[in-house]
Amino acid sequence: MTALRGLLRGNAAVNTRTAGRWISSVAAESGFSFPASQARKGVAPRRDPGSRNVQWVFLGCPGVGKGTYASRLSRLLGVPHIATGDLVRDELATTGPLSKQLTEIVNRGQLVSDDIIIDLLSKRLEDGVAKGESGFILDGFPRTRRQAEILDGVTEIELVVNLKLREDVLLAKCLGRRICSQCGGNFNVASIDIKGENGRPGIAMPPLLPPEHCMSKLISRADDTEEVVKERLRLYYELSQPVEEFYRIRGKLLEFDLPGGIPESWPKLLRALNLDDHDEKQSAAA
Ligand code: ADP
Repeated sequence: MTALRGLLRGNAAVNTRTAGRWISSVAAESGFSFPASQARKGVAPRRDPGSRNVQWVFLGCPGVGKGTYASRLSRLLGVPHIATGDLVRDELATTGPLSKQLTEIVNRGQLVSDDIIIDLLSKRLEDGVAKGESGFILDGFPRTRRQAEILDGVTEIELVVNLKLREDVLLAKCLGRRICSQCGGNFNVASIDIKGENGRPGIAMPPLLPPEHCMSKLISRADDTEEVVKERLRLYYELSQPVEEFYRIRGKLLEFDLPGGIPESWPKLLRALNLDDHDEKQSAAA
């Protein structure tokens, strides 16, 4: 992915060519065209159910459920779900020198440098193209305006879904996150039931408990401690507004307030994405 890496270093003359190659290999096969003028707040344009290779981005605070909804949609649409946080964690699990450097950054709740994150993402996209993947749902990238500009320089993002949830719930959800150390399954032990008050709606999100055989193998992410989550949320709020604005002015931003847990939110999200009329696909992804 010379194009992404090159754009990062600002070598525009070379990059126009390499970006073109990158676009043709990763993006141009897309049968789904998404005129920016069609995008509007709240509803995505109706798309041809036969065309699968969407190029979408999921934005949202730590703990909002980007991974949960992006991975369900990726199964529904048959495109890879690429989470840069997962790419970073895969790197952390290795013993290379980069792993040590990243551990310190991630455990402080800070962002990894653009250079590193773009290298990891480029490699993942390249591997996917080699395996015949087309389209993607990106989760966790772009996180800064600069990353959004770099992405915009190499490919067309059709839709950006911005998932939203109140902050007290986000913190509880991050602290309740658990991963099965054996099967890798993601769960959440937080039980959220906040009553509505002063005109503010309540919100109920039952825990997402693991099956019995995973119970004793649950672990938490090292960066899901209260102190680190608060820092990640602070950083997210600081950096996300320019990213949201970048896509809002291009008519690509779909704002989605999560009304509750998965059973309540999933059908509403599908409706907002104009995907609600594919029942068999819904059950396949569930
Ligand atoms: P979160 O739950 O905070 O959304 P992620 O799983 O997306 O966490 O990311 C975990 C960590 O990986 C981040 O705190 C950050 O250090 C790093 N990371 C992930 N995506 C990016 C990115 N696009 N740019 C820089 N750092 C990133």
